[in-house]
Amino acid sequence: MSPHNGAAETRFIADRMLGPLTRYLRFMGYDTISANGLSPGDPREDTRLLDLACRENRILLTGDHELARRGGARAVLVTTDDVLVQVQLLIDRGLIKRRLAMSRCSLCNTLLRTATDDEIASAPYAPEKREGFTFFWCDRCGRLYWNGSHRKHLQDRIEPND
Ligand SMILES: [Zn+2]
Repeated sequence: MSPHNGAAETRFIADRMLGPLTRYLRFMGYDTISANGLSPGDPREDTRLLDLACRENRILLTGDHELARRGGARAVLVTTDDVLVQVQLLIDRGLIKRRLAMSRCSLCNTLLRTATDDEIASAPYAPEKREGFTFFWCDRCGRLYWNGSHRKHLQDRIEPND
């Protein structure tokens, strides 16, 4: 597993239990898809996740020992519930760098673009004072993001209440 041997960044696919880690990785700019995006109840979901990981060259993140074993070098077994420890695990493995890229929507993985004034005005949760902030928009979710804000806001964005 040598993710930094080229220009391409590590991409991930995460199991259903790793929603917070999925959102965190997206905030860090890493292309991360989730098993939650697959239709539920598929008895062969583990095999589908492995197929997707291979086909799209993604690292499989899972809390399932058997699935991690099947994934071999392509999988990372995640056994802690603490998302910060999970992130540190991936840093220690050399898979990601600690950063906040604010380049992807945490809910759907879509690349964000700069928000327009109208879009900022349309979001009731936007900060009242816009100075010092940079605003981004997810076209798919119609959701506003911003950076330059306080840590509290970051936490709100990582764990959105919806
Ligand atoms: Zn989105």
